Amino acid sequence: MRIYADNAATTKISRKARDAMISVMDEVYGNPSSLHSEGQRAAEVLLKAREDIADCLGCSADEIYFTSGGSESDNTAIVSAVKYAEKRGKRHIVTTAFEHHAVLHAIKKLEAQGYEATYLDVHENGIVRPDEVEKAIREDTALVSVMYANNEIGTIQPISEIGRICNEKKILFHTDAVQAAGHVKLDVGELGVDYLALSAHKFHGPRGIGVLYAKRRATLSPLIEGGAQEKNRRAGTENLPAIAGMAAALKDAVSGIDETACRVSAMRDKLIDGLLKIPHTVLNGDKESRLPGNVNVCFEGIEGESLLLMLDMMGVAASSGSACTSGSLDPSHVLLAIGRPHEIAHGSLRLTIDDENTDEEIEKMTDIIPKVVEKLRDMSPVWDDLQKGRNKYVIQ
Ligand SMILES: *Cc1c(COP(=O)(O)O)cnc(C)c1O
Repeated sequence: MRIYADNAATTKISRKARDAMISVMDEVYGNPSSLHSEGQRAAEVLLKAREDIADCLGCSADEIYFTSGGSESDNTAIVSAVKYAEKRGKRHIVTTAFEHHAVLHAIKKLEAQGYEATYLDVHENGIVRPDEVEKAIREDTALVSVMYANNEIGTIQPISEIGRICNEKKILFHTDAVQAAGHVKLDVGELGVDYLALSAHKFHGPRGIGVLYAKRRATLSPLIEGGAQEKNRRAGTENLPAIAGMAAALKDAVSGIDETACRVSAMRDKLIDGLLKIPHTVLNGDKESRLPGNVNVCFEGIEGESLLLMLDMMGVAASSGSACTSGSLDPSHVLLAIGRPHEIAHGSLRLTIDDENTDEEIEKMTDIIPKVVEKLRDMSPVWDDLQKGRNKYVIQ
């Protein structure tokens, strides 16, 4: 039996999302822009999906734009806000050091074009401080972009407090809520955001489809030119099966979200407590202000990649914050941002669980992982040096 504990990377599609997609593919094949009955039927399905998603986010349907996923939504929000503010001579962006690359790289590109960016500290607990956001805002600030919850360490940011600050100062505010949507309750009005990004495959919907919420007063500039879809803001024939699948997945995730979050966070805490019994182990990110399903720890003296491979052989699909898996030797920018030294950041393990995981799986992981860590430490020269006192432990 395999244990899937990498839900922050992607999730298994839900039955409801799959069924919704199949029925649209089989029965609703018209183009929503066509005037004939098949087209109008497709336009109805499109509108229903838009309304259902708007209901889940507490906004109106005309504030929902369909995109190809989280990355496109983030890029569109950032570029739109910046283009709007540029006309008023504003060329400064406030963000955090541990955003997803969809945000960080979009901002880096703007910096290369002469924009300025401030990357806020997220401190050891992985949480940005609203007063520091306020201090970073300047006369020429165009946009504040702070993620709702971090994809590696799961920490939840004080978005509504930051929203209040941005509204007071009349600055556009974007949040990447890709990790939060479908896992914690989101209400765009309460959050005070102008833009919010989400992606279906992070909540048991299909890949390659996402949403950008843009508040009525917030402008949107298209990244792609073409047809008049999405009120001229996002060209291209709508991916109707995926849109219907996303709406079904989000509705499903949002119904009973509090109970699910409660059950999943109880499993998370059991897993964290079990892993922290391993000597020289530290939890990454705040224990309380944390996504229900996120566990992220660093083990001293081992490499995250070896740990992943061994866990995979033992039936556990996990992830490491270290970017070696993506072909680079740099440790995770997120773990560095919370102050973990390089050698510690390399020994990280991320387990992201959700409502499909069971108590038995948690027990099995708390049983297997300490054994695997011990085995790897036995083979590690770094660990040997620590044990023999030739080097000092970083994690006590
Ligand atoms: C997955 C993820 C994205 C990218 O979403 P895609 O749909 O894969 O493009 C962006 N931000 C965060 C926080 C994510 O976890």
